Amino acid sequence: MILFKNCEVYSPDRIGKRDVLIGGQKILAIEKKIDPPKGLEVEIIKAQGLKMIPGLIDAHVHIAGAGGEGGPASRTPEMQLSHMLEAGVTTVIGCLGTDGLTRSVESVLMKAKALKQEGVSAWIYTGAYQVPTPTILGDVGKDIAMIEEVIGAGEIALSDHRSSCPTTDELIRLTMHARVGGMLGGKAGIVNIHMGDARDPFKPLYQAVGKSELRLTQFLPTHCNRNEYIFEDAKTYGKKGYVDITASSYPYFPQYEIKPSKAIAELVKAKVPLEHITMSSDGCGSLPDFDEKGNLKSLESGFPKSIFDEMVATVKEEDMNLEQALKVVTSNVADILWLKQKGRVETGKDADLVLLDDQFNIVHMTAMGKMMVRNTQMLKKGSYEK
Ligand SMILES: [Zn+2]
Repeated sequence: MILFKNCEVYSPDRIGKRDVLIGGQKILAIEKKIDPPKGLEVEIIKAQGLKMIPGLIDAHVHIAGAGGEGGPASRTPEMQLSHMLEAGVTTVIGCLGTDGLTRSVESVLMKAKALKQEGVSAWIYTGAYQVPTPTILGDVGKDIAMIEEVIGAGEIALSDHRSSCPTTDELIRLTMHARVGGMLGGKAGIVNIHMGDARDPFKPLYQAVGKSELRLTQFLPTHCNRNEYIFEDAKTYGKKGYVDITASSYPYFPQYEIKPSKAIAELVKAKVPLEHITMSSDGCGSLPDFDEKGNLKSLESGFPKSIFDEMVATVKEEDMNLEQALKVVTSNVADILWLKQKGRVETGKDADLVLLDDQFNIVHMTAMGKMMVRNTQMLKKGSYEK
């Protein structure tokens, strides 16, 4: 058991100074004063002056690697555990991406299992950019219903030159199967959509909903800040559907993309309900870095840390408070993806906690009740990390 004394708890709503007791992977109690239970081994951590927030959920990471669009040498490596811990991320949703041809959903699933063994929480989307989309059991619905880690389908590419350009009927069928798989498996069955650069990017989603019983909330379109015109459309789309902002690519394409923190603030100003907005990193996606002449200098890949930094920027640079900024990377994601044990500091939820100092440094962190960071020192690394 671990007892955190006197921290300022953000559930993400600010609930004030509390003692928080965790044990056996769960949050056991949150009270104004908790005495250490007698006869049990309890580690007491003085957390005066620290803010306790829920562990972040990064809902779009190419955990088993991605890229490859610049040839075989541009394939990106797998995500490492430290990339989550340095970002305060305790839960990740893995996905395949552009390369559903030579990479597999199976490898994403095994990587999620590996991360779980290393102490954090992980789920995945089945599928890839392509339609028909690769799966493990032959159908997205079967994967979602029967495989514990699969919570939805994606990322299916629309409005992009790398998309299979599914017809409206194909998109409806895939999404219906994801939805029914979700019903059978007790999961959200959401379809995560890669939004590309084509004009009128949300049109395929409006058409699918117009021609079926589906609702816009069955989709979670991502990269909604990739350029000005998709972002403008997202202000309307987001009033009815969910809108996901991508964080890791912004520094590489500042001339096109809307800075994620600014995008969040502007969506709220445009009256998109805050509960409809999420932010993910697109971690391990490939990010080419060009010099002034446009020559390829190096290949980089994105990291989950970008959602932490942009969450902080939403507080420091935009007119939003920590509670609001946190929702976009904690409770909203948990609600949309039906991760019922995640995203909130509440009694009975998983003990995924991050304690921050005034400068937003991660001082302590737990995942599933185990200390992962103590006094700013990372205690765990991935199996092959030095
Ligand atoms: Zn994408």
